[in-house]
Amino acid sequence: MPKSLLIQFLGTSSGQPSLTRNTSSLALKTDGVTWLFDVGEATQHQLNKFKNIKWSKINKIFITHMHGDHVFGLPPLLCTLTNNLNEDSVMPPIEIYGPSGLRNFVRISLSLTRSRLNRSYVVHELLFPDDPIEFGKPLESNEQLGTNIHMTIDKNNNKSWKVINEGDYIVSAAPIEHSIPSLGYVIEEKPIPGNIDIELVKPILMRNKVALGLKNPMELLKKLQQDQCLNMPDGTVIEPPQQRPGRKIVILGDTFDPSGITHLAMNADVLIHEATTSLTSDDPEGTTYEQLEKRTIEKGHSTSKMAGKFAAKINAKKLLLNHFSSRYKGDKENIKIMDEIKQAAIESFGNDQVICTYDGMTTQIPIRKDVN
Ligand SMILES: [Zn+2]
Ligand SMILES: [Zn+2]
Repeated sequence: MPKSLLIQFLGTSSGQPSLTRNTSSLALKTDGVTWLFDVGEATQHQLNKFKNIKWSKINKIFITHMHGDHVFGLPPLLCTLTNNLNEDSVMPPIEIYGPSGLRNFVRISLSLTRSRLNRSYVVHELLFPDDPIEFGKPLESNEQLGTNIHMTIDKNNNKSWKVINEGDYIVSAAPIEHSIPSLGYVIEEKPIPGNIDIELVKPILMRNKVALGLKNPMELLKKLQQDQCLNMPDGTVIEPPQQRPGRKIVILGDTFDPSGITHLAMNADVLIHEATTSLTSDDPEGTTYEQLEKRTIEKGHSTSKMAGKFAAKINAKKLLLNHFSSRYKGDKENIKIMDEIKQAAIESFGNDQVICTYDGMTTQIPIRKDVN
């Protein structure tokens, strides 16, 4: 059965929190576990407020870049995640992935604050070619030794990191342009088994029951689900149902040019892209889009129009905008401005599947209907 895949936005503000938006964080919830992407300051408050995520189910945390609005909530969250466990509880470590410096940031924050964790954690760093490799320093208590994941560069000069291949998902990452090293993550679901035509398959299995020597030949359906052929004693070959492609989610860190992730991001079901600014009716009269875009790029960010353009470039099905300047409030009073921001993205995307996200918003990623 295809699994439910749900995204909840925990913080959609850039730089600093406002009364209506917290700094960056979002949760991806599936199959009994939750992964967080970025942990801005006070993400814990958001988890408490929205009550959609079970804390004990958070087992992986991915960080896009080291700016404070994306990591300042990480050390206290780690303390809380391990707080209610007794010292003897044996649980796998909380796995954290992110750029160079993340391991030290967590280690020093926990060490200087004399924080004691009752569950282990491990930080895996995604390294650029000239990043320093360090393992030599003493590990914090309860810190396990993380891996250094090196960038691979293919013959077309596409850069990427293979982050995990685990269970139903493959996660990879690629560098994108920002004022400091920044990453985008691509979460790909492995192909989903198709539906078995029971009406067709059951009689074949039943007529071979004795020759198979199985009390319940229907147990072979499992093999079909695993994409294996069944060769029946009477010579019939039962082909597995055609698999459906899995879903693809692209989650970008801050960026003014995400083209470095294009090779991984093509045909995404969902693209989550920052939209720090946009030209709206709130801007001073006479401001041109070109002026605003130039200023935005100089600060390392994107306008909603730029996000729409990239969504079109990778042929995304849906564009979710986040990381709004704190002047764009996330409440009902600001719907008109948010709609202007959305319209600018729709225009450049050429698709009306655009949402300006808000804190607490959840969205289900539907399974793909198309069969490759
Ligand atoms: Zn940011
Ligand atoms: Zn940033």
